Amino acid sequence: MKFKSIPLFKVFGIQVNLDFSWFVVFFLISFTLAEYFFPANYPGHSFVVYWLVGAVSAVLLFASVLLHELSHSLVALKFGIPVREIDLFIFGGVAMIEEEAPSPKVEFLVAAAGPVCSFLLSFLFFVLAVLYPQDDLLNGIINYLMLVNFALGAFNLVPAFPLDGGRILRAIIWAKKDLLTATKISSWTGTAFAYILMLFGVLSIVQGNLLNAMWYGLLGLFLRNASKISYEQTKLSVILSGYRVEQFMHTVKPILPDETVADFMSYYYPVYKSSTYPVIGADGRIYLFDVSQISSIPQNEWHQIKVYQLSKPVEVFVSPYDSLLKAIKLMNRYQVDELPVIYGNTVLGIIKRDVIESLVERYLMQEKMQES
Ligand code: ZN
Repeated sequence: MKFKSIPLFKVFGIQVNLDFSWFVVFFLISFTLAEYFFPANYPGHSFVVYWLVGAVSAVLLFASVLLHELSHSLVALKFGIPVREIDLFIFGGVAMIEEEAPSPKVEFLVAAAGPVCSFLLSFLFFVLAVLYPQDDLLNGIINYLMLVNFALGAFNLVPAFPLDGGRILRAIIWAKKDLLTATKISSWTGTAFAYILMLFGVLSIVQGNLLNAMWYGLLGLFLRNASKISYEQTKLSVILSGYRVEQFMHTVKPILPDETVADFMSYYYPVYKSSTYPVIGADGRIYLFDVSQISSIPQNEWHQIKVYQLSKPVEVFVSPYDSLLKAIKLMNRYQVDELPVIYGNTVLGIIKRDVIESLVERYLMQEKMQES
């Protein structure tokens, strides 16, 4: 259920995006509030007023979801885990927390921050409702936000990975066992909860409530996929964080400042099968040469053009002591299949995506053989 998203704004360096599916849920919430909740509890207003109040409440609900996600993000940032963006979509929000937590304690704190924020908001609106006991629409909005923030905190505490409660469960198991076992158990509870939701969906069909059936069904499907994907990702992270770049890189001699395209074609190209090559520039800095550029240069000019003149300064690289996990994450972020391996100002080699993928494949094959 993810469509194209609209960038909204940046907060604490985190990009907040609005997914198009949000408009569907915005309409449904406004509709439910304007047609049922407000007219039933606060009668005597016009259709337009109910819709206006419904829409305002729906926006404030999403502001609450955003605060919930921001709480996760800020705790993650505090422990040095990068957070790139927060997406608001049909089922609420997702903070794109880039890495696995370094320890069970951090995992626990990051996961708990969201529900804590929602319960605090609920309590805040409870206090406001006590201070403002008028029986009008403003009181209605306050009451709605109190209920919905409480529900948000409670639902997320269900111990079903990757919901917050499932992450808390994972942190607790992780503290006693290893991360992979913890993820396996908690994503099993996640899948079980997803099937319970789908069962509710079927029961709603029997009762004739098709809208509820659709919600339960979609939410169940979403959670089942999310728990499966999160488990696969964790497995990958655990495998890849156990190896260092130096163990899998190809050692490559950098192209020197005075070497021409002709030199490259005779001494480098036949030896290393890469699509990019590190180059030392005349200024002593490290550049990167993209082999595909050669096709645009007539062969009679190969002797005149220095490779470094065609190259760009290196933007992204790894150290030989970085983990393969860091390498693959950088490759994904910058959409490249190779990264130069640089230590200090020395080029050591190149790490390639297909080598890392073969390693993962070997693991998955071993796992299959153990199962059968
Ligand atoms: Zn959360």
